[in-house]
Amino acid sequence: LHELLFADVAERADRVALIDGTSGAEMTYGQLAGAIDRLAAALAERGIGKGDVVGILSPNTPYYAVVFHGILRAGATATTINALYTANEVASQLADAGAKMLFTVSVLLPNGLPAAQQVGLTDDDVVVLDGAEGHPSLTTLLASTGPVPEVVIDPAEDVAVLPYSSGTTGKAKGVMLTHRNLVANIVQSTPIINIGGDTRILAVLPFFHIYGMQVLMNNGLSVGATVVTMPRFDLPEFLRVIAEHRTDRVYIAPPVAVALAKHPLVDQFDLSAIDTIFSGAAPLDVDLAAAVRKRLGCKVLQGYGMTEMSPVSHAIPEGRDDISVGTVGVIYPNMENRFVDPATGEDVGVGERGELWCRGPNVMKGYLNNEEATSATLDADGFLHTGDVAVIDADGVVSIVDRVKELIKYKGYQVPPAELEAVLLTHPQIADAAVVGVLDADGEEVPKAFVVRQANADDLDAAGVMTFVADRVAPHKKVRVVEFIEAIPKSAAGKILRKDLRAREKADS
Ligand code: ATP
Ligand code: MG
Repeated sequence: LHELLFADVAERADRVALIDGTSGAEMTYGQLAGAIDRLAAALAERGIGKGDVVGILSPNTPYYAVVFHGILRAGATATTINALYTANEVASQLADAGAKMLFTVSVLLPNGLPAAQQVGLTDDDVVVLDGAEGHPSLTTLLASTGPVPEVVIDPAEDVAVLPYSSGTTGKAKGVMLTHRNLVANIVQSTPIINIGGDTRILAVLPFFHIYGMQVLMNNGLSVGATVVTMPRFDLPEFLRVIAEHRTDRVYIAPPVAVALAKHPLVDQFDLSAIDTIFSGAAPLDVDLAAAVRKRLGCKVLQGYGMTEMSPVSHAIPEGRDDISVGTVGVIYPNMENRFVDPATGEDVGVGERGELWCRGPNVMKGYLNNEEATSATLDADGFLHTGDVAVIDADGVVSIVDRVKELIKYKGYQVPPAELEAVLLTHPQIADAAVVGVLDADGEEVPKAFVVRQANADDLDAAGVMTFVADRVAPHKKVRVVEFIEAIPKSAAGKILRKDLRAREKADS
């Protein structure tokens, strides 16, 4: 991976690689590459090399890229940790991954340190990037004068990163991605996403998640783009950074699209720099996308992927205006997809729903310490069973319906919650919504909507919501229960946590 990103770095040494969107501090490609070499040398001096795992627990900053690539340059494996995790969750990932060191920041030390201690790391093993009493800082490590280690990578076998899946459907799984996996997905995306040295990417999606790590950070750095980092999503700050740093490419997950389409604040900022908004990680509704496009006057594209595919397998290629933004576009180069009836293992026809199976050089090596999950997901032919229901049309354009596991079974029909959520979001008095299957009095599974009212929409009641949906969908898809809540639980990567809503249901009953 290092070679792909930095082999020609001398030619762009003075260009800006990363900007801290909060402070405005800039890092050039020359500084980035130099710092990566210094960090790799320091890690080697500490005995970290091939086969060792190092954790990163940090929000997005330019230094994230230094740490990430420094670890890989030393031949070691980076395990990227969700910055919102509790100490116990951090500890469980460090233990599962077998991490020997942890890089974190002072604000996350209250979680990071007890976690590191739980797995037997010392204060010296916990590097605090911005410095903290008793711990090495990044500056300390970058002062290393040792030689850059010469490591020989076996791209097909050596695990470069161990990100964990989002844990949307269950416990997060450690995903082994090799150097070849990461390089493949970057190379595959080049003809599709059309970014270059002049592109300014807004990186608010977290680098610890595969989408931020690969599509924002690594794809961006591979073409010499400028990546503007933000530590977390906060709408006013997000809009300010876009306006101030004139980012032309903004990667989002659907919850941000909801804000961009509906929030009054959006009109108060100059967002004219935005050329393309690219959405992934969860279903993007076509009407919502159209509303964003109209309001901001920019292109809106969608892609699909998962941690296990490094991550992208499908996207709408730049310039393919004939493809609806409600779809995830076409399969990436050098990949194959199948649409399979999971019950029979037979391919379904064009236009019919089946489980999406994908094969290609970007498909993971396997799950860490989980042979059972690996063999249930990766078949003998190398196809990854995604767990998502999808449809392909005659032109090869793919639409994601929903996850196999999330489909609500109502009287023998399968109801995709994502479709109902999209309908709910078109209601002017609804700010946000999520749908899950719940059991009614007869023990029958029925769709239930959790709804967040817009400000000043107190008169919206359950009957109003149910009628609104009933007027727009087939009778078997009607929402049959409604509950108003303050906020929809979502993961850091922008996915609705339907499992949390189901757990809440259970606790109530
Ligand atoms: P876990 O596997 O731990 O339950 P997760 O599947 O959410 O969590 P990720 O790898 O982050 O973990 O997400 C991949 C999933 O996200 C896909 O399987 C799919 O369900 C969903 N997804 C990604 N992009 C899209 C999209 N454009 N439309 C619909 N769903 C999407
Ligand atoms: Mg998954």
